[in-house]
Amino acid sequence: MSRNEQSAEPHTNADGEIVVVGASAAGLYTAATLARGGRKVRVLESKPDFEPASRTLIVTNHFRNQLGASAKASILNEIRRFELFTDGRSAQIALSKPDLIIERARLIPALAREAQHAGANLSFDARFLKLSPNCRGLHLQVDSAGRSEELHAASVVGADGASSRVARAAGWPPIETVPLMQAIIRLPRDCPPDTTRVWFVPDDTPYFYWMIPESSERAALGVIGEDGRDMARCMARFLEKKQMEPLEWQGARIPVYRRWVPVKRRVGNGEVYLVGDAAAQVKVTTVGGIVTGFRGALGVAQSILQNGRSRELRALRRELDTHWLIRRTMHHFQQKDYSQLVDLLNFSTRDTLSEITRDESTRLLWNVLRRQPRLALLGLRGLLLGKTPRPAREG
Ligand SMILES: Cc1cc2nc3c(=O)[nH]c(=O)nc-3n(C[C@H](O)[C@H](O)[C@H](O)COP(=O)(O)OP(=O)(O)OC[C@H]3O[C@@H](n4cnc5c(N)ncnc54)[C@H](O)[C@@H]3O)c2cc1C
Repeated sequence: MSRNEQSAEPHTNADGEIVVVGASAAGLYTAATLARGGRKVRVLESKPDFEPASRTLIVTNHFRNQLGASAKASILNEIRRFELFTDGRSAQIALSKPDLIIERARLIPALAREAQHAGANLSFDARFLKLSPNCRGLHLQVDSAGRSEELHAASVVGADGASSRVARAAGWPPIETVPLMQAIIRLPRDCPPDTTRVWFVPDDTPYFYWMIPESSERAALGVIGEDGRDMARCMARFLEKKQMEPLEWQGARIPVYRRWVPVKRRVGNGEVYLVGDAAAQVKVTTVGGIVTGFRGALGVAQSILQNGRSRELRALRRELDTHWLIRRTMHHFQQKDYSQLVDLLNFSTRDTLSEITRDESTRLLWNVLRRQPRLALLGLRGLLLGKTPRPAREG
């Protein structure tokens, strides 16, 4: 099998069928965009039917511009304020454009309806197994409800998540992932339903804990872990300290974006693309992957429809690189750095944070640094600290 790295050649199979593997956020968005562009699209989903696992997600207001009316029905709540806590200190940031709380179990069926309405064909209980080149493009082997099925496609889009089988089959290296867990809890009485809380506890995680209210009664309390850390133990201790009872659990592994993953490879005469978690299109600061996965999906669809051209992919790359810079800066922060960070969030900085969303990170970063230059020094220190190993944690 001859496989080449990302190629600038225009595609030659403009009339052939495109197979999208994975009927979740990124795959369905790609399928709908391609079908609207006049391409014949088939989506393969390994799950037997449409009962996506429940997941409470927070996204920026950008989501509203990306989706049609039916997907907006997945919005459960709006967030107008962030409260940041660390070591007895706190800071508040009001959002001029509210963040949105969405329910994945509602979003995915809505995206599927939009894809089908645009003309895409969806197959459930259809697990992609292998691909190889053939004279018409690509030959795919699929397990369809226990029977082996052979398919032919001009292009394949891998939207099959962080451990993408399409990526492995086409020769992309595996991507690093981290575990993420969320407990659904009763919303504490002292927390307004339009407020997200974030706690920086560097002894537990280099990321943070968060609590996002999905209604006036319920919230999702989450944490991101790292290899070697006992995330479940930290979460249990945190819940106990805050006197919160888990009602249900949500969790999975999330890709860590360290560098841009080229989204296209040629395999023989065919083309293979990756979108969403399969291409690590996740903001590594917050591990939010919905808005960026849609942007990756749009970029790949544009690139297929417009013979390789997509400004969206270039812009997404810049965005994800900036999040990686911020994460590298903060990853080795110690308690005193977080305390200083929260103290430095003065009025002018907070204004910037409230006006510019996390999906415009470069503009956000420069505006924050312009208004509070001492944050640049703190960031530089964080970057330098990153070069020395963290001391081992007790217990
Ligand atoms: C608990 C939790 C909370 C999160 N919170 C947020 C948040 O608040 N905000 C945010 O923006 N992001 C959040 N994320 C991340 C976000 O959910 C993901 O980035 C996003 O769902 C990725 O979508 P995707 O379509 O790329 O991949 P996935 O959702 O992983 O979908 C992959 C699809 O491919 C299918 N599939 C896999 N293998 C095959 C195969 N061989 N053949 C056919 N089908 C296959 C799977 O069944 C699945 O349907 C959270 C993630 C978790 C786990």
